[in-house]
Amino acid sequence: MLNHSLKEIEKDFISLSPQGLYCPQANLHIDPWSSVENSINTHAHRDHISFGCGSYLCSEESKGVLGIRVGKDQKIEGLPYAKKININGVTISFHPAGHIIGSSQILLEFRGKKLVITGDYKLEKDKSCTAFEPVQCDTLITECTFGMPVFNWSNFGREYEKLVTWWKKNKENNIVSVVYAYPLGKSQRILSMLADVGETVFIHRSLKPYVEEYEKLSVKFPNYEIIGDQRADEIRHSGLIIVPNGLANSKLIKSLGNVSEAQVSGWVSIRGLKRRRGVDRGFVISDHVDWAGLQKSIVESRAEKVIFTHGFTEVCSRYAKEQGLDSTTIETRFGVEDEKDEGVT
Ligand SMILES: [Zn+2]
Ligand SMILES: [Zn+2]
Repeated sequence: MLNHSLKEIEKDFISLSPQGLYCPQANLHIDPWSSVENSINTHAHRDHISFGCGSYLCSEESKGVLGIRVGKDQKIEGLPYAKKININGVTISFHPAGHIIGSSQILLEFRGKKLVITGDYKLEKDKSCTAFEPVQCDTLITECTFGMPVFNWSNFGREYEKLVTWWKKNKENNIVSVVYAYPLGKSQRILSMLADVGETVFIHRSLKPYVEEYEKLSVKFPNYEIIGDQRADEIRHSGLIIVPNGLANSKLIKSLGNVSEAQVSGWVSIRGLKRRRGVDRGFVISDHVDWAGLQKSIVESRAEKVIFTHGFTEVCSRYAKEQGLDSTTIETRFGVEDEKDEGVT
């Protein structure tokens, strides 16, 4: 399988090794699947990093959160967006992907050819990170987590309003609002969305290190209070608390008394995640590109060849071919199901 894929990719400067996408010319692995000598990372989500690599290269904005994930004592170099460096003839630069803080598309240039690896990205507004910028290239390797026409985020502004209305309603009824979200990215996005609500928001202590990294990069948050694992008397009846997915059914949640629980994810749009996780509400706010956004970014990249990874690869590749593009797919370590369970949507 790997050899087959290798033939399909622009093997002059990118191939697929047992550790994932590899640039032999620069001796760099992009978002490696296991420990490698030189790692270059689109962002700090767990499915895009490996521990114990010899060195890490990422965007300057990603450096802090990557350090929390892999260890601050590791060799991590951050590069400002759009700044180019050259490693053995390969020019490398990072461009905003709009997914989480520091998330980047990686542009590799070699012998006049341009290749972009998107990592995870989205086009919707997000006050907690730098907005996606289209990058032109010959070959585009794009994620397609939500690469099906059924996924459409055009109403995400209304989803935010629904979330605020839900909170208000809970307040009137002396119910604590519990929002389950991934600790890095989604939690800070929700927190930043609530910046102008004028109320204190509670966050679980596990989110604190990430929130602080965002603050260092001047992301605006509302007044917030940190809650530990013990009974949280501090939370007034009307409070909203953001906690990691793993805390569902925990002592903390049980200690809160009357609660209404919500999940914030692209998946709640179709899969009844709300029911599956036993929460009361689901808000369709995703940090991945939807179908229309995916098609738009492919067109804007002007790529002639599009390689799909991380999601509904076959559907997307078939559609790209119908649009007259050269297209193929590559495997990732994580399938769509894992992505959902990791809560990185
Ligand atoms: Zn991600
Ligand atoms: Zn991912």
